Amino acid sequence: MAHDSRIVLCSGPHDPHAFDGITIQPRRGDLDRPCPLCLGRGQWNREFDLASQRSKRCLCDKCDGRGWIETGDDLVPSPDVELSPEGQPRWVTRYAPSDDRDGPGPEAGETGGG
Ligand SMILES: [Zn+2]
Repeated sequence: MAHDSRIVLCSGPHDPHAFDGITIQPRRGDLDRPCPLCLGRGQWNREFDLASQRSKRCLCDKCDGRGWIETGDDLVPSPDVELSPEGQPRWVTRYAPSDDRDGPGPEAGETGGG
């Protein structure tokens, strides 16, 4: 007997069932606002089974799974791997400037003569 399966494929976070069953992530650190792509979830369903509610998910490219983006000058934590002094790979957290900063440039100062 075939079991009932109604799988919906999602091409991106804009699809109707892309966020089914996914909760919004709590804010971490000093990040400024929920990611506009995943709306604070950090991931979405690539496949969602309407019958069983099971899903296959992928991380959001824009926020790297954080669910939040930084629009100011604060550094953003990202997981990375480095070699320990013993030569073993280990997870570390790196801090790098955000890709999502608002504003005209590095310094929003006055322009032109006055
Ligand atoms: Zn996102």
